[in-house]
Amino acid sequence: MATVIEGCAIATVDDARREIADGHLVCADGRIAAVGPGPAPHVPDGARRIDGRGKLATPGLVNCHHHLYQHATRGYAQQATLFEWLVALYPVWARIDDDVVDAAARAGLAALARSGCTTSTDHHYIFPRHAGDLLAVEVDAARAIGLRFHPCRGAMDLGRSKGGLPPDEIVEERDAILSACSAAIDRYHDPEPGAMVRLALAPTSPFSVSGELMAETAELARARGVRLHTHLAETDDEEEFCLERFGKRPLEYLDSLGWLGDDVWLAHCVHLDEGETRRMGDTGTGVAHCPTSNGRLGAGIAPVASLLAAGAPVGLGVDGAASNECGELLDELRAALVLARVSGGPTALTARQALELATREGARCLGRDDELGHLGPGALADVALWNLGEPGFAGIEDPVAALAFGPTRAVDALLVGGDPVVLDGELRTADPETLAAGLARQSARMRVGR
Ligand SMILES: [Zn+2]
Repeated sequence: MATVIEGCAIATVDDARREIADGHLVCADGRIAAVGPGPAPHVPDGARRIDGRGKLATPGLVNCHHHLYQHATRGYAQQATLFEWLVALYPVWARIDDDVVDAAARAGLAALARSGCTTSTDHHYIFPRHAGDLLAVEVDAARAIGLRFHPCRGAMDLGRSKGGLPPDEIVEERDAILSACSAAIDRYHDPEPGAMVRLALAPTSPFSVSGELMAETAELARARGVRLHTHLAETDDEEEFCLERFGKRPLEYLDSLGWLGDDVWLAHCVHLDEGETRRMGDTGTGVAHCPTSNGRLGAGIAPVASLLAAGAPVGLGVDGAASNECGELLDELRAALVLARVSGGPTALTARQALELATREGARCLGRDDELGHLGPGALADVALWNLGEPGFAGIEDPVAALAFGPTRAVDALLVGGDPVVLDGELRTADPETLAAGLARQSARMRVGR
């Protein structure tokens, strides 16, 4: 069914950064058919009409880093550093199974939808032998909630006995990992335009994965035409680990394994020096900036302005909900905006740049910027419509400033490929109470034995 929205402000975030004070959007066959000022020049027969008065339309937000299963382990290790937090949580995570991941993924994806997200990645890296097919569970959850989904097949092969951080019982063998990665590409990766599911390969981090697995994963990804993702330069502890074990700083280590390039995006990148920031830009390597998680773990904050100046793609990520209990993406837009200014002053990042991080820059990280992250004829009809008519926004003239600096309210309508996931402020693809009850039940199961 076609959808027509009229009477709204529109921030297209297109190449010209066109903004329209009072305009229309027409979505048909999964794509934007028309966008411009005034009422729609043509309304397709039987189209769904949405009254956009008092609202702002933006491209749907893109979430570049997540661990959905962590929705079932929120509130743990509240004063811990990353390594302390991981050591506390690995034994809990060792107990996950398909029921836990199903409830967590549905609740997490619903939270993202309510915060304007239309495309999400997920980095899943714990595959206990008893747990069932966890990748299949989360792909099914994304289909049910209705979001575009880029699952990343994660992996850990460097257990404690080999000098890594995770306990041996939750790491896998290298050969088994590589064949599981290959099978996941066969099963889920859709390279076609308009894809709802695309896979990436994502060994977890330098302190939980061998150099051999990193290098072989990069070879496999490039042979198969899928993207690469991992965590990097998140904390000082990681830097110390890399210097001690490899004699290299984290980015230098990754570079030596052939891991930098425009088919790679990295979560965090908090601890980069100036030369490393330039290297990110020169190689076109993307960053998933996760400001709330970095704040929760006291890790520091990524040099976003320098990365953008260097030309590196910088998207936003909520990160797993065990280090960001909120898990909503509009909050990351806000956090990125204000935290960039804490050290860089009030010109470090603008409201419009923050919106770009959440949309077109995120799409660039995922290699989807040809058809996602902007609103123009031919782009996918992934649209967030924000209700700025609520009292909390009263009197703010600039709608983009209202969105970025005003109350972080739930989205009014959310379309993915033109299909409604949220309408009139309500999730239409699942019942939030049922999701919450399922999540509470599985979270209680996870606490047993703690
Ligand atoms: Zn993460």
